[in-house]
Amino acid sequence: MRLPAQLFFDGAWRNSASGRRTTLINPATEEPFGEVAAADVADVNAAVESAQRVWESGWRDVAPGKREAILHAVARKLREHLEEIAQLETLHIGKPISDARDEASLGARVFEYYAGAVTKFCGQTIPVGRGGFDFTLRQPMGVVAAIVPWNFPFPIACWKAAPALAAGNCVVLKPASLSPLTAIKLGELAHAAGLPPGVLQVLPGSGSAIGDALVTHPLVRKVSFTGSTGIGRHIMELAARDLKRISLELGGKSPNIVFADADWQRAAETSPMSVFANTGQDCCARSRVFVERSVCEPFVDRFIAATKMLLVGDPLKPETQLGPLVSAAQRATVEEFLADARQRGSRFACGGGRPRTKGYYLEPTVLLDVRKDDRCWREEIFGPVVCIAPFDDEAQMIRDVNASPYGLSGSLWTNDLRRALRIAKAVESGVLSVNSHSSVHVEAPFGGFKQSGIGRDLGMAAMDGYTELKNVYVAE
Ligand code: NAP
Ligand code: MG
Repeated sequence: MRLPAQLFFDGAWRNSASGRRTTLINPATEEPFGEVAAADVADVNAAVESAQRVWESGWRDVAPGKREAILHAVARKLREHLEEIAQLETLHIGKPISDARDEASLGARVFEYYAGAVTKFCGQTIPVGRGGFDFTLRQPMGVVAAIVPWNFPFPIACWKAAPALAAGNCVVLKPASLSPLTAIKLGELAHAAGLPPGVLQVLPGSGSAIGDALVTHPLVRKVSFTGSTGIGRHIMELAARDLKRISLELGGKSPNIVFADADWQRAAETSPMSVFANTGQDCCARSRVFVERSVCEPFVDRFIAATKMLLVGDPLKPETQLGPLVSAAQRATVEEFLADARQRGSRFACGGGRPRTKGYYLEPTVLLDVRKDDRCWREEIFGPVVCIAPFDDEAQMIRDVNASPYGLSGSLWTNDLRRALRIAKAVESGVLSVNSHSSVHVEAPFGGFKQSGIGRDLGMAAMDGYTELKNVYVAE
């Protein structure tokens, strides 16, 4: 398989202006396997300026039906290359291949959805008081910068690029340093499918080297970011200078709430993968489990039994459920949390160690007796670690759930409809699922309350975020 190893912009492969390259390491083997060009500030400026020219000279005025057809062609092209995309994803981040295949397919589905949205996303006519004719337009912004993380590199690149393009913008996409391959592949395939050169620019490169230049470039009208809360806050500060539009999808510490009246057995069996999937490197990971005390003990027993059944191993094997963490640094961060838990006297019901000598693996770990002011309870770990705690009182439990500065996702297990509705309203999060752990639906808005972010990806809400709203009044 040929590695997509260069910048891809203006419809062509390029080396970076500086000639700098980043070495990629396979997290399952710890072996370096290739190098990718790393963009510099000069490349950022060239890519943004060229995208702006392409936008002004044609892309913004492409007829909706034509834009729809191009995005459908991109989706078809992605579908022809799903296996290649999945293999690249597994190679650079160690994601289990079966998940990588599902996510490659999700990316294509996102392009299909937004291809359809082009001709269905519309303004209003408004009967203003003084008469005449009043209507709204949803207009593209210009150049959008999309900055994406390494945990779901391909689908997140698609769910930013597709609605931004559907709305008539050009996009400069910056993948994470650890995961440039599938983003570059997206640029190449989109171009091969008929997206005009310059409309989707892909700039692999280090965030610390080029992030600020991209975010502050005066021609970038909007920054759409997914990543850590710290970098999100930094981007928001920079964007404040010229009131740039932003959307931020940040961290989480999501609750999984289980009532005794629920099918708690099913909850216990399905909950391990709600936190350990992607080796816990998931902003929606249900990392705080609240279980009504009367069923907590048997729930924990089942949860542990299900955890011990998970297949940790070679991410290229189709049966593998958990691969390695993405990097040595990420594993070291998670192990610091575990050291803190040991020191604070938490009980390790299972896991806590390294299951293999090669690769950045860590066992899925269940912590009990974690205090509410411990780091493991409060902070996002971004690794395969869960805290389970009993609760007695619904109102107190909701206060504990909402005590987190995050508010991204969550699950609720109950068969009592009134309770489900009451708690769905009370939990401070952008996404909640009842008797399920699913957070992401292409057709529905996804994003966070509080320090989990601002703005929404996916659904028609994302189209709002990639347009400016204009009101036009015509006198009679
Ligand atoms: P990160 O360090 O915030 O990186 C995210 C992206 O930002 C990467 O492309 C990174 O590039 C770039 N970046 C770094 N410094 C930058 C700067 N000064 N200006 C602009 N961009 C910069 O996060 P991560 O370590 O990749 O991902 C883990 C975090 O992301 C977790 O906290 C997780 O919760 C969050 N996350 C949230 C969601 C969500 O939807 N809410 C989804 C996935 C992940 P480099 O890689 O080159 O540093
Ligand atoms: Mg980082």
